[in-house]
Amino acid sequence: MIDPFGRKISYLRLSVTDRCDLRCVYCMAEEMTFLPKTEVLSLEELERLAGAFIRLGTTKLRLTGGEPLVRRGILDLIGNLGRHYLANGALRELTLTTNGTQLAKSADALRAAGVKRLNVSLDSFDPARFRAITRTGDLAQVMDGLRAAKQAGLKVKINMVALKGINEEEFDQAVAWCGEQGFDLVLIETMPLGEVEDRLEHYLPLDEVKRRLAAKWTLEPSVMNTGGPARYMRVAETGQMLGFITPLTHGFCESCNRVRVTCTGTLFLCLGQEDAADLRAPLRAGQSDEGLEQAILAAIGRKPKGHDFIIDRDHRRPALARHMSMTGG
Ligand code: SAM
Repeated sequence: MIDPFGRKISYLRLSVTDRCDLRCVYCMAEEMTFLPKTEVLSLEELERLAGAFIRLGTTKLRLTGGEPLVRRGILDLIGNLGRHYLANGALRELTLTTNGTQLAKSADALRAAGVKRLNVSLDSFDPARFRAITRTGDLAQVMDGLRAAKQAGLKVKINMVALKGINEEEFDQAVAWCGEQGFDLVLIETMPLGEVEDRLEHYLPLDEVKRRLAAKWTLEPSVMNTGGPARYMRVAETGQMLGFITPLTHGFCESCNRVRVTCTGTLFLCLGQEDAADLRAPLRAGQSDEGLEQAILAAIGRKPKGHDFIIDRDHRRPALARHMSMTGG
């Protein structure tokens, strides 16, 4: 799959549910209305769709949500994907982004299915603050999950959203703790997605964070490039990687290799644009595999060049009304 700007699209982020057991303040409203079950793709439909993308050249598949591990039957889907596509080399990587709450009971099954690495979102190491950010979360549960992941042999990358006045004094501790655990750490700027509490107030440019961390740690330039938006440094003292995702201060669209599919089968060609294609209709209309693949290819032919997120006082509205949990983070 090559888009109109010559970018090879080899990475699919597939959302398997819009539901989540947490309600992070920058991601979801306190009272979310979730989709009726009939609108959400069944596990069989998700598997068929993943298969079509893989036949078209997707080599990296990330399951996300919502919280992927709260979807009933998800471990069966992951097991099937591993068996069918990792085993024969069609898929190079099958991975997940998770909040970690369900990892204690699923880490072994994930590893057995062929998952090697996980991104785990964790915005605070303080139980009370973690609860405040997630509105409902129990930090100890996530810590248990992380222990299980490590024990199962899964490589972990911690994703931490930088929130001004909320978790900004924890980054130093996060670098140290991730170093001890052997986890990589990625700091993320808040993106203007979905109507949530005032984001401008908590927006923290990562350039400033990087400067502060560089005063304490030796940050060596790294050539590590995952094909994604993160720019990595190596923390000399710990040997772990430290990444920065700065969608607002630095664009990352030139090297974009990804598309996203929501749990309702809408293919979004860019996280920050409305361009989309409905893949649920062909799936449910009994289209052949070829028909489904044609629908995907036609959409890839419309992938936009990039997004233009802005957070400033003149743009208090979100760039897009849909939440990250809808598009799949
Ligand atoms: N539930 C899973 C999790 O917590 O990782 C997967 C879905 S979650 C939407 C994926 C990632 O998106 C999380 O790391 C979350 O912090 C991040 N995220 C959500 N809304 C965001 C926003 N507006 N700006 C930046 N990151 C956001």
